[in-house]
Amino acid sequence: MSELHQLTLTGLARQLREKKVSATETAQHFLGRMRAHQDLAAFLAVDEEATLAQARAADAALAAGAAGPLAGVPIAHKDIFVTKDFVSTAGSKMLADYRSPFDATVVRRLAEAGAVTLGKLSCDEFAMGSANESVAVPAVGHRAPTPVRNPWDRSRTPGGSSGGSAAAVAARLAPAASGTDTGGSIRQPAAFCGITGIKPTYGRASRYGMIAYASSLDQAGPMARSAEDCALLLSALCGPDLDRDSTSLDVPAEDFSRSLNDQLDGLRIGIPKEFFGAGLAADVRAAIDAALKEYEKLGAKLVEISLPRTELAIPVYYIIAPAEASSNLSRFDGVKFGHRTEKYSDLLEMYRNTRAEGFGDEVKRRIMVGTYVLSHGYYDAYYLQAQKIRRMIADDFQQALRQCDVIAGPVAPTVAWQIGDKADDPVAAYLADIYTLPASLAGLPGMSVPCGFGANNMPVGLQLIGNYLQEAKLLNIAHRYQQVTDFHLRTPGGY
Ligand code: GLN
Repeated sequence: MSELHQLTLTGLARQLREKKVSATETAQHFLGRMRAHQDLAAFLAVDEEATLAQARAADAALAAGAAGPLAGVPIAHKDIFVTKDFVSTAGSKMLADYRSPFDATVVRRLAEAGAVTLGKLSCDEFAMGSANESVAVPAVGHRAPTPVRNPWDRSRTPGGSSGGSAAAVAARLAPAASGTDTGGSIRQPAAFCGITGIKPTYGRASRYGMIAYASSLDQAGPMARSAEDCALLLSALCGPDLDRDSTSLDVPAEDFSRSLNDQLDGLRIGIPKEFFGAGLAADVRAAIDAALKEYEKLGAKLVEISLPRTELAIPVYYIIAPAEASSNLSRFDGVKFGHRTEKYSDLLEMYRNTRAEGFGDEVKRRIMVGTYVLSHGYYDAYYLQAQKIRRMIADDFQQALRQCDVIAGPVAPTVAWQIGDKADDPVAAYLADIYTLPASLAGLPGMSVPCGFGANNMPVGLQLIGNYLQEAKLLNIAHRYQQVTDFHLRTPGGY
């Protein structure tokens, strides 16, 4: 029992199938770990009865021989997915008590595969951020909103916006978690916490029931210990959802585990020179270089490529994402759902006070930027230009992917920083997104693979970017590396 949390999700699923452990025991074990490690502030909502009821249903399915591939496996969800059984806050006061009448498609699909929901995980408010510091609702066991802590060093950030997901998996409070990635929020926290995460091609995972930040970029994906675990989860959560999400791709669900063991002989790995410039910290660079050497030993060839508009990804993303956010967040007006102010004498004042009270600083900052770049007179100068460059960034990737099969580089320029370090300087935080934003703007799949440790013994992540719908290939490339390294299996001290 005490070792359950050290198993990978694949290993745990096998033990459950072989009835070496029950879903109920497993759920109890992880709920106990969650209670014991509340200081990490990873969870925003738990409901032990709801979790145990799901676990009992999984045990019944296992006993009847009718169990799905994830039967009894506990999974925690980023609190940006709506759930019937748990409050769904998006980390915002605006939705502090919100209960959804339905489950997000991603949540429903994982549940249909047999997964048991452990609870909801902390994130930056409306998924805007890189450090999980902008969460505005208290974590379980806390009275006030608290930044999530990185289990490798609790004075450091786990990254964001899926910081709760990364911290929970790294500390073994859950075998896996869902995350969402708009500009890096799966890959960067996975890198900062030494776990594996994949953002699929835009449109692969349904956005139905994912509280919207920037709709043309938002994409869900799994965060777990290994590429093998991610493949299992991705196979369950992807697939068309055409009636509910108009941007869902009409591509059948796949078995992403099918090619995990393919050989890498002759694989051409593209190394974008713009990802290795002056901004990249030496410790991160050393870990990435070592990982690339490992790939050469596995038979891959390194090819220098260029993604010439990499730097432009920052201004382009920080125009387009706030523009879409300002539109998406207009629905929070105190009328339909969520927070409503008590102080108002007319409708306009009700709107104003509701939004002034309900949104935090970072969200307000983005709404202001977004409405500005969309306003008459500035639309052409900012928004339209950003859209044009976004297309060029996507074209640059296609150009580069003619010379190589996959692109590799760092996820972030540094290891996880101290909590509060960039809190007063939003632009400094935006700049740290430089390596994750390009793939998001192009809609390409990207993943983060633990590849070593940098300064202060903090984890480093290798980013792999593939062409559209090449998730199985990315997972294969990551899995091969994980068979000859053990960074993804290391556990932070005390967990
Ligand atoms: N750090 C980026 C932002 O703040 C990315 C966030 C995300 O991917 N949700 O927008």
